[in-house]
Amino acid sequence: MSFSTFVTDKAGLQKFYEAIMASQETYAPVEKFGKFDFKRVSALAECDPESPIAKTMSIKPLFFPRTAKVMKFVATSAGTDVSEVDEDPLAVKRVILGVKHCDARSLQVLDKVYNWDYIDTDYQNRRQNTVIISTRCDKADTHCFCTSLDYDVENLDAMDILVVHGTDGKEYIKARTEKGNELLSSDVTRHASPVTEEITAPVLKSQYASFAASFRLKMNYKEVNEKLSKIFDTPEFENVSGNCVSCNTCAFVCPTCHCFKISDEKIKDTGVRYKSYDSCNNGYFTLMAGGHNPRPAKYRRWRQRAMHKFVYYKERFGENLCVGCGKCTISCPVNISIFEVVNQVSAAAMQE
Ligand code: SF4
Ligand code: SF4
Repeated sequence: MSFSTFVTDKAGLQKFYEAIMASQETYAPVEKFGKFDFKRVSALAECDPESPIAKTMSIKPLFFPRTAKVMKFVATSAGTDVSEVDEDPLAVKRVILGVKHCDARSLQVLDKVYNWDYIDTDYQNRRQNTVIISTRCDKADTHCFCTSLDYDVENLDAMDILVVHGTDGKEYIKARTEKGNELLSSDVTRHASPVTEEITAPVLKSQYASFAASFRLKMNYKEVNEKLSKIFDTPEFENVSGNCVSCNTCAFVCPTCHCFKISDEKIKDTGVRYKSYDSCNNGYFTLMAGGHNPRPAKYRRWRQRAMHKFVYYKERFGENLCVGCGKCTISCPVNISIFEVVNQVSAAAMQE
């Protein structure tokens, strides 16, 4: 099936976004304290679909909330009554715009685990009801390395609609899925014109070439996958994790980290059960009820993080659990970079 593509100018692209906001429940990057987080919006003035990569949080919380009520309960000496929480506000039909390619890709990676041994229906409903509009970046940020990983950034199919700022000064809006095509068939594109693949393809190609040339970081992920899989016991993990303060920020901002904890909060007889983000960097993450902790040292926890991202997930699902967005490095209070960690450990271990 061939999907439609439209061309317009900068003002037309803004009108396209405004038309979406007027007709659909829409989320987009909203600035707060110098950072951008995806929030519900109703006008372009409230948000910035072109928010800077380095300052934009991931879209993960719109599919896997930072914390969410799982159930309510009343526990008395007579027994426990459990009740359902309110309807999921994230499972309604909605559009997310201003999504970076790495973020769009992260959902394809997460789909694997959420469709695995347990089907997470909350996640599935949120995915099925969402149209993702992703704008291709024009320039890489200092810590980006998406083009070095195991996915084709140029031909990425993780979004429903692709927006590209053409090297000819025009704006290209291209459907990538049936959901995207359906949205573009409505009158949201009334300020744009249909355009053929013959015209679109070379412009998108030259835009990608300029974007790809802007990367400072380049990784040979196949080499990293292979070397890490052989060096579990290397002491180099102690060197690279020495400064880590186990704050868990890297996992919380990461679009692909998906560990969570379940906790109950109760006042007198009435309580709520929550599902909240957790992290393998957390010293208590593997603490067992009897007091044993198989990862008591932080180098072991960092080793788990690196191995899960570049060995274990790859072995199980065929993909790295990292999309090269650099968010963990940007947010780390002690400047630890996963790019440097996995490269440094691989290189040092091969010299042992
Ligand atoms: S590990 Fe870091 S670079 Fe990789 S996806 Fe997570 S936040 Fe992005
Ligand atoms: S953000 Fe940095 S300091 Fe915090 S847990 Fe991650 S690596 Fe350690």
